[in-house]
Amino acid sequence: MSNPHPLSVWARNVSPSPTLAIDAKAKAMIAAGEPVCSFAAGEPDFDTPDFIKEAAIAALRAGKTKYAPTPGIEPLRAAVAERYAAEYGYKVAPTQVVVSPGGKYSCFIGLQAVVSPGDEVLIPAPYWVSYPEMVKLCGGVPVKLPTDDRGGFKITPAQLEAAVTPRTRVLIFNSPSNPTGVVYGRAEIEAIAAVCVRRNLYILSDEMYEHLIYDGKTPTCMATLGSEVEKRTITVAGFSKTYSMTGWRLGTLVARPDIAKAAGELQSQMSSNATTFGQYGALAALKEKDKARESLAAMKAAFDRRRKLMHAGLNAIPGITCLLAEGAFYLMPNISSFGLSSDDFCARLLEQEKVATVAGSGFGAEGYMRLSYATSDETIKEGLARLARFCKGLKK
Ligand code: PLP
Repeated sequence: MSNPHPLSVWARNVSPSPTLAIDAKAKAMIAAGEPVCSFAAGEPDFDTPDFIKEAAIAALRAGKTKYAPTPGIEPLRAAVAERYAAEYGYKVAPTQVVVSPGGKYSCFIGLQAVVSPGDEVLIPAPYWVSYPEMVKLCGGVPVKLPTDDRGGFKITPAQLEAAVTPRTRVLIFNSPSNPTGVVYGRAEIEAIAAVCVRRNLYILSDEMYEHLIYDGKTPTCMATLGSEVEKRTITVAGFSKTYSMTGWRLGTLVARPDIAKAAGELQSQMSSNATTFGQYGALAALKEKDKARESLAAMKAAFDRRRKLMHAGLNAIPGITCLLAEGAFYLMPNISSFGLSSDDFCARLLEQEKVATVAGSGFGAEGYMRLSYATSDETIKEGLARLARFCKGLKK
């Protein structure tokens, strides 16, 4: 009898998401009665607005419980197309929209549509943990472009240009960024897009946090920067962050017709449609604009206040420095002065002070950690006091 074959190369090579793991651990500790301050969450701490829930409940009652067209129900695809036209002047046909089971899945089918085995995909670091894993699952080769806080966590056009080889196919671009919260300005994005056009790269533009931008800044939709950029850009967004719908699993992908068609066909074999009645909730989010604007404004105001609170608190701790990022709901302080690896620092912080954070290592950002401020002001104040005590102990 021979031994069973080993697991596949995909199963052996994938690293599970460290952010989901730490979030699950923090939630389990809280459930066990431990006084954890968690800054690990990658999701708004607000509930989904009632009008969205009601629309989904009505759809459920109306029997919207069957398979739907794979790329999404027609009215939702049309509403997504309308919102791009209204918000950015980006005119797309509903057939260029794919509604998927989450923004994460939109990224994956977007990459699968354009990445073949051996293709190189450029990923600015710090990056969202899933990008390199998704590239590997496509058989591609992730190539990381390092940045640091001194450079505002932004890649430069020259850095991008220098990283391109004959095998490079895609740049993954994410602004506002998870994990840094950094938002690129329009001129900076134009300069990056120009390199992608010149070097014939696709751009996976992950605009998941487009509506969570502060200080009066406005988002830039990559695909609107000219026809050459439009035809090579796959735009990913979704409902998770803007409408506090993370558990609903609803994302969008917008791209050139052939790419959108390919992404829909990949989805048809791997997951089929996103939950049918959930899509009616998403439709309400896009159609009932006043209610949506109101709930978003309330959430943004809370995030903005907490962002400033956390930023000031972090910078008041000797040994920590932190940029005031302008988007999403994360800050990425520099903890390198303590001389510990980010894994050690975060593990000890959780152990000793019951403060959950995510180590920079998983984001390609050794020497940093990620804190989410999608939590209450009280948790931020208490967590920062514990962090300060922890850091003081390390400095002794
Ligand atoms: N892109 C980025 C940068 C994210 O941070 C996330 C979620 O954390 C996603 C995509 C995926 O969002 P979803 O929950 O819709 O899959």
